[in-house]
Amino acid sequence: MTRHDPATDTADVVVAGAGPVGLLLAAELRAGGANVLVLERLTEPTGESRASVLHARTMEIFADRGLLPRLGELPAVGPGHFGGLRLDLAEADPDHPYAGQWECLQDHLETELQRYALDLGAAIRRGHTLTGLRQTDDGVRIDVRAPDGRTYRLTADYLVGCDGEHSTVRDLGGFEFAGRDADKVMLRADVAGIDIDNRRLKRYDAGVATAYRRPDGTTRLMVHRYGEQPVGEPTFAQVTEAWAAVTGEDIGHGRALWLNRFGNASRQATEYRRGRVLLAGDAAHHQMPVGGQAVNLGLHDAADLGPRLARVVTGRAGPDRLDAYHAERHPAGARTLANIQAQAHLLFGPDEVTALRGVLGELLEFGTARRHLARMISGLDAPEPPRRSAPLARPHPSHTHLPGRSTVDRLTDKTALVTGSSRGIGRATAIRLAREGALVAVHYAANEEAADETVELIEKEGGSAFTVRAELGVPGDVHELFLGLERGLKERVGESRLDILVNNAAVTSTGSAPEDLTPEEFDRYFAVNAKAPYFIVQRALEQMPSGGRIVNITTGVTRTSVPDQVAYAMTKGAVEQLTFQLARLLAPRGITINSVAPGITDNGGAIFDNPEAVEAMARFSAFNRVGEAGDVADVITFLTTDEARWITGAFVDATGGTLLG
Ligand code: NAP
Repeated sequence: MTRHDPATDTADVVVAGAGPVGLLLAAELRAGGANVLVLERLTEPTGESRASVLHARTMEIFADRGLLPRLGELPAVGPGHFGGLRLDLAEADPDHPYAGQWECLQDHLETELQRYALDLGAAIRRGHTLTGLRQTDDGVRIDVRAPDGRTYRLTADYLVGCDGEHSTVRDLGGFEFAGRDADKVMLRADVAGIDIDNRRLKRYDAGVATAYRRPDGTTRLMVHRYGEQPVGEPTFAQVTEAWAAVTGEDIGHGRALWLNRFGNASRQATEYRRGRVLLAGDAAHHQMPVGGQAVNLGLHDAADLGPRLARVVTGRAGPDRLDAYHAERHPAGARTLANIQAQAHLLFGPDEVTALRGVLGELLEFGTARRHLARMISGLDAPEPPRRSAPLARPHPSHTHLPGRSTVDRLTDKTALVTGSSRGIGRATAIRLAREGALVAVHYAANEEAADETVELIEKEGGSAFTVRAELGVPGDVHELFLGLERGLKERVGESRLDILVNNAAVTSTGSAPEDLTPEEFDRYFAVNAKAPYFIVQRALEQMPSGGRIVNITTGVTRTSVPDQVAYAMTKGAVEQLTFQLARLLAPRGITINSVAPGITDNGGAIFDNPEAVEAMARFSAFNRVGEAGDVADVITFLTTDEARWITGAFVDATGGTLLG
């Protein structure tokens, strides 16, 4: 089932709210294979454009999803501000292709996001109001009122409230919405028939005023009179009175096309997820809409939640994976709310903030201060939401923009298996191979969560990966490994070709001294570390084409005497022979096979948290430090590229000079 199923009125996910956040979320869910139904109380979009700018992170997300062409040419707008003090958002990151702010009226954004979600197969019901919800062990029952007044019930695996600041889902779901109400208010209006000077958050003795004349001749006004309290829905009379009181100008002859007010309320749900009910956008956080941060923040929520939730409802990840949504987006929201509150003080404060504004203005003379705030407002200082996995054959356009990422996709179109890549050197290797463009099978034995996390880290960077579970060293191990591998490869690329094999998984220590080592322990070492790699190579060769690469991970201990590790070293010595002996056999097939020997390498194990132990271990290396997993992974990755075509049968010392003596 790929779409919402009207016959049974069930969906993987029901999204309440068809604003920009709900629509982007629906599209993300569809793109991730989930079926989704959007319920929207309004029968038609409002046509209003409260929000109008997109920031760098949002543009990056839209570019990643191929959405920018749908939005058309978006004009770059003005430099931006922090609490009314000029701040050029383009300074957030001079190398970022979308640093700055880009005009995109909400009405236009909603129209295009709706089209996009529908094109991807989302179902949208307008005029349908969510009236009740109940969580059960296996889903959520949702009561809905149709436009004709009839009520009906839907069932879904998950419900997401994207239903704005007065969210029904938040109320019915029992979420706590902590924070404070507004005690200051800004009136907003689009007015026709007036001709006044443009100004941006100009401070007067009695308040603050903004006027911006649009190309169609209407003027967007915003006015705050110091001390003015929020009361009821605004009228044009209130706006003209406040405008006159603050600026001394009479706009009473104009005609109001749209009226609105917003205050400095600041509230945030203490949990973004309660069981099967989640919140995103203004439903999760309510803030003053200053500088367009509110809609951008909500869109980032959707881009973060969509791929995660899709993985969960399509069975590719467990529900605990959703905890990462709260873990990443709640702090990001709290941080944005804090900067907005700071801006509200700077904007709305009368005389007492003048000194503060002066000091901050001086700080903004410094590039690092401007960059810090510009990154914060642009959303660039929050964790990046998961990227859409790039199709195997197409290098991801973002590859050249991410720090620490290779600018060359040396492994585009390649497939790779890294055994034991749930953590340590294996994980670092899987991440690097994926960065180079390979589709990576992340193998693990027991640690599913860590393996999922490796895949998530890869997908976040735009790479492609999937997990394969198989305990090595037990009967049927290699068969099980290749069943999972082949299934994963066929699903993604339609064939089971394997270009790269990294034999990395190993048992590293039993804790037994040589004199105490039992035959069972000895057998286990050999079964996992030597026998399994041999038969993995044997099986991999059935599906490895010319240009294939095999890298066996051994250890520097085969070249230095460490009696306590005799059995382990024997297994690794055996693997080095596997490399050495097979190199001649495989060369005519255009396949290389090499051994990489790490020295002491931080694999995240507890011992690496002990500074004294680390200091002692560091002395073994000529560089006087322990290796990072990435130090070894970079060497492994190089050996898998075409650039290493002339190396085979080699023992590559990646010990950081430990073997120099
Ligand atoms: P690690 O952090 O201990 O991780 C071991 C990996 O192998 C995990 O993914 C684990 O899966 C998997 N694994 C372990 N036993 C398995 C089994 N029976 N069946 C299937 N998978 C199994 O490893 P590391 O320290 O990064 O070491 C990686 C390689 O480098 C090993 O070959 C090791 O001998 C070599 N090496 C490491 C160092 C070092 O200092 N770290 C030094 C020299 C050589 P689960 O997560 O599911 O358990």
